[in-house]
Amino acid sequence: MMIINEYEKIFHALLSAGKVASMVNRELVSTEWIEKTDRSPVTIADFAVQAILCRALQAQFPGDAIVAEENTSLLRAGENAVLLERVMAVVETEVPVVHTDELLGWIDAGKGKPGTRFWTLDPIDGTKGFLRGQQYAIALGLIEDGEPVMGFLLCPNYPIGGERKGIILYGRKGKGAFCSDLAGSNWQPVRVSRRTDTQGVRFAESYESGHSDHEGQASVTRMLGISTPSVRMDSQAKYALIARGEAEIYLRLKNPASPDYVENIWDHAAGAVIVEEAGGKVTDTRGMPLRWREAQMRNNNGVLVTNGLVHERVVETVRRLYPSS
Ligand code: AMP
Ligand code: MG
Repeated sequence: MMIINEYEKIFHALLSAGKVASMVNRELVSTEWIEKTDRSPVTIADFAVQAILCRALQAQFPGDAIVAEENTSLLRAGENAVLLERVMAVVETEVPVVHTDELLGWIDAGKGKPGTRFWTLDPIDGTKGFLRGQQYAIALGLIEDGEPVMGFLLCPNYPIGGERKGIILYGRKGKGAFCSDLAGSNWQPVRVSRRTDTQGVRFAESYESGHSDHEGQASVTRMLGISTPSVRMDSQAKYALIARGEAEIYLRLKNPASPDYVENIWDHAAGAVIVEEAGGKVTDTRGMPLRWREAQMRNNNGVLVTNGLVHERVVETVRRLYPSS
């Protein structure tokens, strides 16, 4: 593929990872997911996708660090031997695995530290959506000098009309943002919507009430005069809504029940470069630039993604609602 050129091999690994994720998503049984220590779920697809993509990244860019969401501590625990076997079996549908240690090594390659150039990966972003058979995304971003410069988002369940679903988005700093079908065979440029009228503006937020502040977001839409119901969707698929011009605002206010939660770069890097290249804007909810130099965005407060045109208006509304924070 012409537009992807130097990332062609990574893109092929992404397609393999997408096949594995979709397969597991169709056939997942209850023994194939467990709770992590923070009570969030992880499935065999999270581990398998991370293995496949880290393997490809290590092979093509051996000098680059990878900062990924998962690690092998759960898989190495004796009581999860069945889970490890299942991860191995699904990875082997796409790439040969010689030994368990090799598989564990690929997953652990995601333990890298952020530097001047590094990759960041959320193998299954929106695991809760994945478990419900709804939206999730494989999200891979490349960060250079503190800025996301390349991003892939593969969204297998993204609705594209009728019964059809599934898209891949690609953004490259300075080169634009593009969308393709799941085969990666038909790329079209994408562009944010130019809507600014409060009647017509569409608002997106997390499906999970624990991941942001649905009430606060309802206050913001009321103050903005938005009348259409908010679109609730899991994962960075919400960035796809903005980049493709299907919504104008994605707001992620901090949940008051988890005030100490800090956003992770792998939940935003790929989406951010795609939306910005599609003409949109991405900041925190106070209008400050997101910080990409560490895995955790400690100095940011939530996230705001818009078509750019309505950005200031949303920031101003958030400021009026929460003047002190
Ligand atoms: P979404 O599907 O947009 O709600 O985002 C899914 C992501 O939300 C997961 O990858 C988690 O990393 C993240 N998450 C988990 N707990 C919280 C929280 N309390 N506040 C914000 N994000 C969270
Ligand atoms: Mg995530």
